[in-house]
Amino acid sequence: MGATNAGLQRRQFLATGALALAGCNPAPRPIEGGFTGIALERGHLLRDARPPGAPTVTRRVHTLIAGGGVAGLAAARALRQRGVDDVALLELEDSAGGNSRGGVLGGIACPLGAHYLPVPGDAAHEVQDLLEELGLRQRVAGRWVYDERHLCHSPQERLFFNGEWQDGLLPVQGVGATTLAQYRRFAGLVRAAQAAAPFAMPAFRAGAPASHLALDTLTFKAWLDRDGLTDPQLLWYLDYSCRDDYGAGLATVSAWAGLHYFASRHGFHAPGDDAGEREGVLTWPEGNGWLTRRLAAPLMEAGSRLHTGRVVLRIEADRHGVTVDALDVATQTVERWQADQCIVALPVFVAARVVVNPPEMLRQAAARIPHAPWLVANLHIDQPLHDRPGAPPSWDNVLYGSPGLGYVDAMHQSLRPVPGATVLTYYQALGEAPDGRRQLLEQPWSHWRDAIVAELSVPHPDLREKLTRIDITRYGHAMAVPVPGTLRLSRLWNKNGSIPTPNGPGLLQQYEFMTPSDGRLRFAHSDWSGYSVFEEAFTRGHAAGSTAGRNPRRA
Ligand SMILES: Cc1cc2nc3c(=O)[nH]c(=O)nc-3n(C[C@H](O)[C@H](O)[C@H](O)COP(=O)(O)OP(=O)(O)OC[C@H]3O[C@@H](n4cnc5c(N)ncnc54)[C@H](O)[C@@H]3O)c2cc1C
Repeated sequence: MGATNAGLQRRQFLATGALALAGCNPAPRPIEGGFTGIALERGHLLRDARPPGAPTVTRRVHTLIAGGGVAGLAAARALRQRGVDDVALLELEDSAGGNSRGGVLGGIACPLGAHYLPVPGDAAHEVQDLLEELGLRQRVAGRWVYDERHLCHSPQERLFFNGEWQDGLLPVQGVGATTLAQYRRFAGLVRAAQAAAPFAMPAFRAGAPASHLALDTLTFKAWLDRDGLTDPQLLWYLDYSCRDDYGAGLATVSAWAGLHYFASRHGFHAPGDDAGEREGVLTWPEGNGWLTRRLAAPLMEAGSRLHTGRVVLRIEADRHGVTVDALDVATQTVERWQADQCIVALPVFVAARVVVNPPEMLRQAAARIPHAPWLVANLHIDQPLHDRPGAPPSWDNVLYGSPGLGYVDAMHQSLRPVPGATVLTYYQALGEAPDGRRQLLEQPWSHWRDAIVAELSVPHPDLREKLTRIDITRYGHAMAVPVPGTLRLSRLWNKNGSIPTPNGPGLLQQYEFMTPSDGRLRFAHSDWSGYSVFEEAFTRGHAAGSTAGRNPRRA
């Protein structure tokens, strides 16, 4: 730890020195780039009215997994742990990971989507087990400790507010007494909500107490209004937090979701509160792609269990088995899979399209869960940026009042002594924009390039000169938005009435309760939680894989 801190201080010092030299103004170069990341046209094949054509090959497997995001990969791992090896996973993209994939730009690893995982609490014990298996968490002298290399180094986050960078994301620099009083009141309300009934991550483990269901009936904004919480700085911060985790702001998400963000993890700490030790965050240059690559590796080692570039077009289950048709993108032919059972780890709106005669709960989920579009831009810069006064460059850098959610620095965890080229990954959630999805589809790359460069040039006027490339990933239906009513809806398919206690002998029963199923189909995706984070996706996949039938298919 001492060595790490020494390295970081040196890095900060040199970064400051480099900025002082950044007075000269080389002529701007052309910025290269384009749309990368996900293949929109493959997903849109499902809207195609044309029949996909007759299968050219038929394959057999015991368990088929459709979708290779975190949930699908977690299901494969759980099956493997139980000795079920006759498994195939079909994934639409050319690599597994879904929203948690990483990429490389200018030789630097960077996230294409999800970029961090908060140190999981005990309710997410399946995630804790994964981290232990990956060597990230171990017991030392009776305490659980995390690998320092992957815990986000300090300084973690800063906010560009009133022309200066300040430490942390809650606006505090120069705010008045009224704002501070509202921060304290909100902190008190979060504590009161936790005292009324604990929140948990994954949310399933909190059950469905009446106080949570009441919070699920109105928007976060309406709930704040009711309590007279109207301070602009507080509202900006809460809106930012909701956009960051749920893809839409406080006027859209439920009060349950707004409080869950704080109450299930780190709480809300007003300045001057005794916050205790802040919760750590695990992060990697390629973001959560570090985790999904490791989850996918055993499927690749085992030869042909991971089948990428496969668009699942149709899933039909009957008394005898499951038939799945998928387009092989490379050969443009349809392959048919016959399986004993299928774990459908697809977003609900995709599942409802491809499952023949979808069960009522799937129809309901697809009709009632809205999805937010997102944009992720990887910006390669070949020199450190000039900076405004205030807090030093951090891992997460957010601009008050801007359309985006700021950027993370892919080289933040590096201990290189001199700052240099890096990739800044910029995020924007478009869940609030009425035509966000259409814009994402129709606007050219240059439109987003210009908007992002203009936005980030406010704190970094020299960005344009140092920028070599911007690659943009468009997620048309990135994540479920927990609007009012979502919690009640998700409890319907979770059959939440009689959850056994966590960690108890009823764990398998608990997994059964949280896995929506229909005959030979078991559904696992973060959508079924009504909002999308690693813990939800992983636990649902783990539950589906832990409860799927074990017996090998008889020939
Ligand atoms: C931009 C962005 C940033 C995020 N940041 C974070 C973060 O920092 N931390 C965090 O915890 N969470 C973050 N999330 C949430 C993230 O969605 C979850 O952590 C998790 O990756 C969701 O996994 P999943 O398996 O539920 O879903 P998905 O990632 O949606 O997986 C579904 C998979 O199914 C595949 N698929 C779809 N249709 C077909 C088809 N027809 N045939 C075959 N395959 C198909 C998809 O390609 C995908 O791989 C972020 C999400 C986005 C979009």
